Amino acid sequence: MKTLFEKIVDGEIPAKIIYQDDICAAINDINPQAPVHVLLFPKKPIERLSKAEQSDADTLAHLMLTVPNVAKICGLDNGFRVVINNGKDAGETVPHMHIHILGGTTLGWPPC
Ligand code: AMP
Repeated sequence: MKTLFEKIVDGEIPAKIIYQDDICAAINDINPQAPVHVLLFPKKPIERLSKAEQSDADTLAHLMLTVPNVAKICGLDNGFRVVINNGKDAGETVPHMHIHILGGTTLGWPPC
């Protein structure tokens, strides 16, 4: 069964794809927690970070190296935050690993 993000990439669920390449895609979060809130995910799903395997290393590296490009596309020249929610205690709701990219304002710290 396809994940939510696979359905979005396949056009089965509407979303504005703000960046994509062969390996990953980025969309605006439907429930933004900051003025800019983007989700960057691999097109080939990894269930969550703790399920990643050595064979996912290139994909994970590509995702991290893509974050600054997406942040630049979004105009986050003054900084941004990346978050990966892993598992129930972290509030993960979509079991297809994704990186939240947040910015567009001064973000508070600690986050909770
Ligand atoms: P997480 O809670 O870390 O698993 O993040 C999942 C994120 O997906 C949440 O921030 C949701 O707001 C977001 N989300 C859920 N459905 C959609 C959708 N159809 N389009 C865009 N973002 C979504």
